[in-house]
Amino acid sequence: MDENLTGYLTQLLPEQENWVLELEKQAKEDHVPIMDPVGIHFLMQVIKLRKPASILEIGAAIGYSALRMIQANPAATVLTIERDEQRYKQALYNIEKQQKQDKIDVIFGDALEKAEDIVAKGPFDLLFIDAAKGQYQRFFELYSQAISKGGLIITDNVLFKGYVADPDKVHPRYAKLGKKIRKYNDWLMQNPDYTTSIVPIGDGVAISIKE
Ligand code: SAM
Repeated sequence: MDENLTGYLTQLLPEQENWVLELEKQAKEDHVPIMDPVGIHFLMQVIKLRKPASILEIGAAIGYSALRMIQANPAATVLTIERDEQRYKQALYNIEKQQKQDKIDVIFGDALEKAEDIVAKGPFDLLFIDAAKGQYQRFFELYSQAISKGGLIITDNVLFKGYVADPDKVHPRYAKLGKKIRKYNDWLMQNPDYTTSIVPIGDGVAISIKE
């Protein structure tokens, strides 16, 4: 999103509780990529509208988005998976600190390998995909079966820093990833089992409804 617009929307956001600010600070200091404030606010708004009872997240990092999703719907439960051991432990710590361990379950491992076990724990009303960007389509295909009819799949970073919409934007590392996400978006928009809308908020959020 345009930097001025991001700045404008960010300063409009309501003041956050201390624990939210602390987690955002922790992520920044440790260079852990978490959802940006405008993006998470939007995701929370969708959760408040839809009130999904069961949420599956791929990519827990330090537990920030899982905790914010519970903040948006305290009646929900979240199952989230993280493959980085240090982040997994940090997520457990942060979730316990907020006393949300009965609401949020964190699995340590690779979502591409653990699909069978996780799918068996479904169905889920909402899947939030926020992990390796080059694997979005595989995550979607593996986990789609665990999403209930009428449920949502939300994918973050689908406009990835502007590299998706503008194929001429050159960057040694990002351009290739941009192309891959573009392919994912094409596939997603054409998927007959879902109706998808891409919202240019944060880093780009795709909302897919299972028909
Ligand atoms: N959702 C988090 C938030 O907003 O607070 C941020 C998640 S961060 C952008 C992506 C995380 O996904 C990283 O911590 C990374 O280790 C994890 N990840 C990437 N690929 C994964 C995979 N195949 N299985 C499990 N975790 C994965």
